[in-house]
Amino acid sequence: MSEHAVVIAGGGPAGLMLAGELALAGIDVAIVERRCSQHLAGSRAGGLHSRTIEILDQRGIADRFLTQGQTYPVVHFHVPLDLSDFPTRHNYVLGLSQNHIERILAGWVGELAVPIYRGREVTGFAQDGTGVDVQLSGGGPIRAQYLIGCDGGRSVIRKAAGIEFPGWDAATSWLIAEAQVAVEPEWGSRHDAIGTHAVGKQENGTPLGVRVVLTEKRVEAGREPTLRDVSEVLFAVYGTDYGIHSPTWISRFTDMARQAAAYRDRRVLLAGDAAHVHAPVGGQGLNIGVQDAVNLGWKLAQVVKGASPETLLDTYHAERHPIAARVLRNTMAQVALRRPDDRSKALADTVTELLAMDEPRKRLAAEMSGLGIHYDLGTGHPLLGRRMPDVDLVTADGTVRFFTLLHDARPVLVNLGDPGAFDTSPWADRVQLRNAHYSGTWELPAIGAVSAPTAVLVRPDGYVAWVGDRSHVGLSEALTAWFGPPRTA
Ligand SMILES: Cc1cc2nc3c(=O)[nH]c(=O)nc-3n(C[C@H](O)[C@H](O)[C@H](O)COP(=O)(O)OP(=O)(O)OC[C@H]3O[C@@H](n4cnc5c(N)ncnc54)[C@H](O)[C@@H]3O)c2cc1C
Repeated sequence: MSEHAVVIAGGGPAGLMLAGELALAGIDVAIVERRCSQHLAGSRAGGLHSRTIEILDQRGIADRFLTQGQTYPVVHFHVPLDLSDFPTRHNYVLGLSQNHIERILAGWVGELAVPIYRGREVTGFAQDGTGVDVQLSGGGPIRAQYLIGCDGGRSVIRKAAGIEFPGWDAATSWLIAEAQVAVEPEWGSRHDAIGTHAVGKQENGTPLGVRVVLTEKRVEAGREPTLRDVSEVLFAVYGTDYGIHSPTWISRFTDMARQAAAYRDRRVLLAGDAAHVHAPVGGQGLNIGVQDAVNLGWKLAQVVKGASPETLLDTYHAERHPIAARVLRNTMAQVALRRPDDRSKALADTVTELLAMDEPRKRLAAEMSGLGIHYDLGTGHPLLGRRMPDVDLVTADGTVRFFTLLHDARPVLVNLGDPGAFDTSPWADRVQLRNAHYSGTWELPAIGAVSAPTAVLVRPDGYVAWVGDRSHVGLSEALTAWFGPPRTA
């Protein structure tokens, strides 16, 4: 039986990111992926939000994505929300289709030499006290210490683990198709009593290559859609189907909103769409899946290495479940704001007026972009549990951007006070110590200026685990809680 420390079911965005994180930490990880190649039919996700781009920047790979896409200084919550005054190097959304995002992630994972069992499907598993036997189609099982379900919304892993998936059934469904038309269509969106419909040009397509998104009159969820379904809805909305033909992708999505009740069952964990599904409004699903992976990766690596106890894995659910719950809520709100009846329109107009004000705009833009994420790591300095800003640090080696210190996915204690103030030698095998100066302002998105810390302990995912304020109170507890007990000489 082949063996890996960690097996990931599914090599979509969440699975690829998690594999990269584990490989960086030196863990023997493999992906099992049903698709024979990384190719995706259809464009699916259209971009990356600020926090996801920052996360990729923390690993030194953001430019690979930025050079392939187009940036826009807004996020959408019902209306476009300006991001350009946010204190981040990436105060924009990157427009880039999922096909490209997956291709670039797969390239990075390939450089890290992660094996991918392609054209194979995980069909089930059996876990015992020491590991998991992962059953595959067309071959024998693989033994792993941990199995991670990154296998999408219909996750076999979630179902086989018996993890409940409570939430809301679909109230609206949309048809989406990429195809050719015979005559020039009405470009742009149209609103009617059924809902909103849109006809756009395909990315790098032919002059009459279209991408249509059509609201269906009645919710359809089960049956696979056909070209005939698309044609019928086009006729109903536009009085013509524009001679639509030669589809390359026809699919349906809904506003079903569900979330796994638990992200972990002993040695089996879930990430990405396997843990949460919702309408694609606001373009958040892929983004939070990648961020799940970055939250989980370093924790799992430490547990596999024996540096931290298994209980560290419970912080993954504690931190990430509330984030996806907010996303479910904001997608449900956005779908409701799109309803075509007069009362919903009145509500939507009121929300539009509110979002023209600075404070609501900043709050929601911070939430939608992921820059406002705040893990509950206790009370204290506003940086605690929030993303460490990418400040320019002056060090003995010259000026360095903070994010470059996270390229290897190792935690770092940045001492901004007297050099030699800290002794972290009992954690030296796990935690970097950097002495630095920073004389600029400390500013957080939607919060504004905060007082300068004298030291910060930053986890590999870029979130601040401890803040020093002239005293060292709580530092060894934080180091132990996040990175394991001190090594004795
Ligand atoms: C129309 C549309 C537009 C969207 N737009 C956006 C957007 O703009 N921004 C955004 O962030 N998100 C968007 N999303 C959501 C985004 O596509 C998903 O959230 C994202 O793909 C989830 O990534 P994942 O890796 O969790 O799962 P998936 O992408 O579903 O990947 C799961 C992988 O697992 C494989 N797999 C499944 N079962 C098995 C098995 N049993 N064994 C082995 N392999 C298996 C699959 O082949 C697949 O490769 C959109 C979705 C849709 C439908």
